[in-house]
Amino acid sequence: MIPLADSNHQFDITIVGGGMVGLSLALLLAAQSRWKVLVLESKAISAEGAPQYSASFDARSTALSWSSRCIFQKMGIWQKISQHAQDISSIHVSDRGHFGMTRLEAEEAGVDALGYVVENSWLGAVLMQQVSEANICLKGDTAINAITPKADSMQLEIDIEGQQQQIDSKLLVVADGADSACGKMLGINQHSKAYNHSAIIANISLDQAHNKVAYERFTDQGPMALLPLKDFNNSHRCALVWTQPTDQAQQLMAVDDSAFLEALQTRFGHRLGLFKQVGERVSYPLALTTSEEQVRRRLVVVGNAAHSLHPVAGQGFNLSLRDIECLSQCLKNQPQITDVGALEPLLGYQKQRDSDQRNTLMFTDNLSKLFGLTSPAIALGRNSGLLMMNLVPTLRNQFAHFGMGTGQSGVDHG
Ligand SMILES: Cc1cc2nc3c(=O)[nH]c(=O)nc-3n(C[C@H](O)[C@H](O)[C@H](O)COP(=O)(O)OP(=O)(O)OC[C@H]3O[C@@H](n4cnc5c(N)ncnc54)[C@H](O)[C@@H]3O)c2cc1C
Repeated sequence: MIPLADSNHQFDITIVGGGMVGLSLALLLAAQSRWKVLVLESKAISAEGAPQYSASFDARSTALSWSSRCIFQKMGIWQKISQHAQDISSIHVSDRGHFGMTRLEAEEAGVDALGYVVENSWLGAVLMQQVSEANICLKGDTAINAITPKADSMQLEIDIEGQQQQIDSKLLVVADGADSACGKMLGINQHSKAYNHSAIIANISLDQAHNKVAYERFTDQGPMALLPLKDFNNSHRCALVWTQPTDQAQQLMAVDDSAFLEALQTRFGHRLGLFKQVGERVSYPLALTTSEEQVRRRLVVVGNAAHSLHPVAGQGFNLSLRDIECLSQCLKNQPQITDVGALEPLLGYQKQRDSDQRNTLMFTDNLSKLFGLTSPAIALGRNSGLLMMNLVPTLRNQFAHFGMGTGQSGVDHG
């Protein structure tokens, strides 16, 4: 990691936001050994060291698609991530209280795994360690006071650990999450549609092995996912993402652990045996938020700051990873352009990502709506759809490849 003092406060690329997307992009760019990269994170960053794995019950988990695995492989960090990633060999999709169900199988789709589930705490620790070893300048405890577009740079006025600093950067990447403060400073409009649903996440321990099966269950109140986690200390575990109307989620957040487990068991049934223990529960209000602009001269908006989706089918981070891999390729593939903030490659990036972004947004939005409807005719239609998928392997394969991020990105992850 390079110290800020050595930089002259001039950077090629400054990334605002050291979340999973900001750090991944910093690594992709640093691998090109071409750019001076700075990451600014508002939270304080603790002293780095070897990544520590903690199987705490408070962590959110992410289902990584096959295409994300391929991107992390190219970055050289998949081996480390996979130490605590659980592979998914089949996904059981069903509509609670109705006849429709389908099962997607890795073997049928011709892959080793349909995806991988990794706790965010581990993924974050691996990314952070890699950043600390790369040629990247990372600063925590920062606050951005002003951003001024200049002819040949973006000028940032920042407090870093309480000290005012000015930074000039040829390209500014906004990766500061769904309620992007930087986007607002730059006058970028966001469109937001609240789902009036919240997702409760928690880790659950099981009395039997999950056998690498992920369950996506659609209920009349919203989708519920139980994703297999790696066993820890001989304990079988899975990650719960339980979506429901916000008022009901609030009630469930207020009950004690045994009442919560009882409600979950009643709702989900016994396909995973008995739910024994629940870790810390966290509730996320859900909205579909999109940024009206993603590129300008010297500016790109990525990650949740560009599009924040419903978590059904676990697509948000996977989509962003495909975005930033494409962005790093577009910047790399323009040898004649010496100014990394030039508009042309950024427009090329936007054009290449448009269809995958639109399809994924539409897919998750429609899925959340379709399965939330209770009308008997619609229930019959979607159950017939699930039944059809169960009967027709080609349909099932297309659905599996969409989820793996290999069906639509147009990016070669071979
Ligand atoms: C319940 C739930 C389950 C999910 N499951 C999945 C899944 O299984 N698979 C999947 O692909 N996706 C999943 N997602 C989506 C995924 O979590 C997001 O896509 C991902 O977290 C986006 O990362 P990000 O870095 O863009 O934003 P964030 O994670 O929000 O990170 C933004 C970073 O910017 C920092 N920041 C904010 N403001 C500033 C500022 N002014 N200056 C500097 N730094 C700033 C923040 O501190 C933070 O570190 C899920 C989401 C939810 C809510």
